Amino acid sequence: MAGVKTRSTLAIVVLGESAMHTARRIQAQYAGSLVHGLAGRVDADLAYENFGAQLRSLYAADTPIVALCAAGIVIRALAPCLSDKQAEPPVLAVAQDGSAVVPLLGGMSGVNVLAKKIAAALDVKPAITTSGELRFGTCLLAPPEGYALADIERGKRFVSDLLAGETTRIEGHAPWLDHVDVPRNADARLAVRVTPHIDEHDDALVIHPRCVVAWVHDVSGPVAERVRDALHMHRLSPLALAALVAPTHAMTCDALADAASALDVPLRFSDGMPSRDIGITVADGPVDVQTIGRARGTLTVIGLGPGNADLMTPASKAALIAAQDVLGYETYLRMAGPYRADQCVHMSDNREELQRARHAFELASGGRNVVVVSSGDPGVFAMAAAVLEALDEGRATHPEWNAVKLNILPGVSASLATAARVGAPLGHDFCVLSLSDNLKPWDVIEKRITHACEADLVMAFYNPLSKARPSQFDRAMSIVRQYRDAATPVVLGRDVGRPAETIRTVTLAELHGGLVDMRTMVIVGSSRTRSFGDWVYTPRWY
Ligand code: SAH
Repeated sequence: MAGVKTRSTLAIVVLGESAMHTARRIQAQYAGSLVHGLAGRVDADLAYENFGAQLRSLYAADTPIVALCAAGIVIRALAPCLSDKQAEPPVLAVAQDGSAVVPLLGGMSGVNVLAKKIAAALDVKPAITTSGELRFGTCLLAPPEGYALADIERGKRFVSDLLAGETTRIEGHAPWLDHVDVPRNADARLAVRVTPHIDEHDDALVIHPRCVVAWVHDVSGPVAERVRDALHMHRLSPLALAALVAPTHAMTCDALADAASALDVPLRFSDGMPSRDIGITVADGPVDVQTIGRARGTLTVIGLGPGNADLMTPASKAALIAAQDVLGYETYLRMAGPYRADQCVHMSDNREELQRARHAFELASGGRNVVVVSSGDPGVFAMAAAVLEALDEGRATHPEWNAVKLNILPGVSASLATAARVGAPLGHDFCVLSLSDNLKPWDVIEKRITHACEADLVMAFYNPLSKARPSQFDRAMSIVRQYRDAATPVVLGRDVGRPAETIRTVTLAELHGGLVDMRTMVIVGSSRTRSFGDWVYTPRWY
């Protein structure tokens, strides 16, 4: 349908092997659907780590969900998301043995249609609880993308009139109505009316095609209000609005973006527009907004956290889901997947950061929604700085890069994830240092370590050791030993948040290069850092 977002294919979520048979029977009904299975418990098409988090991220991505477990588990998992006013995907609970099909959410997005089809495939009766559940009821009140129902309350009354035996005329045209099985009659009192115009007639079910485009020439002042006034003047419904279009020079105007979100329509940029203040154009049917000008490109730099999907922020997940292009180091991109077929994944080598950043700006300045992926936090020895270096360096030669909407989203850095595993070694003043001398000379590193030791800071070392510089870690620690007691606690976190995670605490005396590699985070305590049992902490007082 016309340039509006399309819903992704069905996600069938299982907790264990015993549900797989039913899951595959449902999957057979829906081409392209995938079975998501709990990692370590069941071998499915996709593995997830945490049931609740998986359900919430599917829900946030507007993915229809069939969960093969108790309805209560699904309700509790999704409860925190329910106040969201975003469109709701269909959500169903199905008994593991296929004996019950319960539609839970998404009444306006076809959950009952799904429930009936799944129940038929499993040869059971669906637990439909919606009153007035007649086929034309659902279809009429939940028009497809490109159309909007004018008023749900009037819609319900209309459907109950039909249920009571009335017939209806159909005025205007929408191809999908041809397939809706309503009792038609050219002389009926009631009418289904397809029109972009405001229509408050009580006997009509009004459906607005999204066929109106507002061209905003003057972007100053209260844009949304002026657009609403212009629509009102033409007696057009704001629900019929498909897009706001503005000249490209206004691309960085925040008020314009606010107006588009207040009107709940996409914002496009084009210079071939009417030169009046607000120009309104009305097409014959729903408008494919992708064909009007272009969008403002966005570049979002995200951090995946240390590895576990649970430690990735919801904001970063949402950015990944919305991305058209995803760039990053191959290992991290694999961690961040899977991707949809419509997403472009650009893998590059770990060392090509600046080149990757420039590539990201090139894509984004062409109107794409681009995400650059780092591990941990993107601002800690990672891509956010590279992206800003590229922009700073290229802003004169590539003026179009300045119009890109740049966002940097924080993530859980390896030092924070490691610290949390053992308690609170970073509980007082600390610093983070990278031992990599790829981009800074070794004598600077030594000098910083000396100063950090003199300041009695807890030190979190990133990039502690690589094959190319096997002895530098021991050199660095020999400086530390001049200042810190041999009994100082040292925390070694390797692959934290990943399946191969190991955490150990040693003393400074026991520490040597053989215990660390490039996948290790090394936290060296201050003179105050203490440990007992498995815990390590640095007290808040001195
Ligand atoms: N931006 C990342 C750091 C990138 S530098 C962050 O904020 O975490 C890469 C270094 O980070 C590695 O050499 C290692 O020292 C550390 N590191 C990254 N992920 C790690 C993990 N899961 N476990 C332990 N150390 C990690």
